[in-house]
Amino acid sequence: MAQVYFTPGPAELYPTVSQHIKTALDEHIGSISHRSAAFRKIYQHTDEQLRTLLNIPATHAILFTGSATEIWERMIQNCVEFESFHCINGSFSQKFYDTANDLKKFTHRFEKPLGQGFDYEDFVKVTDGTAAKGEDNNGKVKIPDYVELVCLTANETSTGVQMRGVDINKLKRSYRSKLFCVDMVSSAPYHSLDFEEVDSAFFSVQKSFGLPAGLGVWIASEKCLAKAEQLREKDLSIGSYHSLPSLWKNYKNFETPETPNVWNIYLLGKVAEDMNRIGVEAIRKETDAKAKKIYDFLEKTEGYEPYVKNPEHRSPTVAVANTTEPSKQLIERLKTQGMILGSGYGKAKETQVRIANFPAVSMEQVETLLQAMKPV
Ligand SMILES: *Cc1c(COP(=O)(O)O)cnc(C)c1O
Repeated sequence: MAQVYFTPGPAELYPTVSQHIKTALDEHIGSISHRSAAFRKIYQHTDEQLRTLLNIPATHAILFTGSATEIWERMIQNCVEFESFHCINGSFSQKFYDTANDLKKFTHRFEKPLGQGFDYEDFVKVTDGTAAKGEDNNGKVKIPDYVELVCLTANETSTGVQMRGVDINKLKRSYRSKLFCVDMVSSAPYHSLDFEEVDSAFFSVQKSFGLPAGLGVWIASEKCLAKAEQLREKDLSIGSYHSLPSLWKNYKNFETPETPNVWNIYLLGKVAEDMNRIGVEAIRKETDAKAKKIYDFLEKTEGYEPYVKNPEHRSPTVAVANTTEPSKQLIERLKTQGMILGSGYGKAKETQVRIANFPAVSMEQVETLLQAMKPV
């Protein structure tokens, strides 16, 4: 039976992937050398397509790693000497923070309860230099002066909470002297980040890009590179084969330090090209339209409610629903109809489902799903 995966990663493959896989086999992509002109052309193509899709300026490199989890570590290793700051509202943002602690950094956490999100308005603005010192800032949070890197999660996949792109961009503008890194694993290319300001962002390909797992994509600016070089000059460890300077040096040639996941780099370039053909704005609009269908359904249908209360924090790409029907039973019921839903994350496994609304699923497929979710 045909199956549609509404799971938040690994997820439904983007509809053109099977055709690109066939072409990749015909072109011997699995066998070509990663030191060949053929590979350099693939890397360059993927770089160009992602640059167009996400509006990435020439100041930023596009680098490949094994996963997003790896990038948490690389980012902290290469861009933090002493202190990082983390907004935490779920498992993934927590893991970014855990990584910084494992690497023995001095970490600051701004935490919100599960299901809640962060806004620009939560923070003290410091650009005008008038921010009060100390704790009392009318309940707003001031990112401490010594923080070198601010770590944000655009889409907390465990709870279906987003931090809106406009808020991320504004926050960075009000803390220009700090490096900002955005985890956009389960939302890229939905979130529109201003890379004239945002220093780094990353994703892995098995979520909203609809590819098989096994590739992380790290967007990093010259400022990040300069920071890594500064740490290295101080004789601190910034890692070895995937240190930012080593990735960057190879990138200049459209190569990688190690034998990379050539196959996925190829597929990512092809899918990004397909997305560019549709246009990123059209993809964002379509995502919004499908998300509206999903959240309207959850609000109006007996037995469901959206887990995230504030509509501005509801993720357009991963909707989390409280269910009265035990979620395991609901998931089983839909599976018999060829639709695979994500279970709730961690403690919410029994009471919630997660519905991925990535570009790979069409409005029609979303409508079929919602029809099937109606109480029996
Ligand atoms: C899945 C996910 C990760 C980890 O991605 P991997 O590819 O498993 O390394 C990181 N952050 C977010 C928000 C995620 O959803």
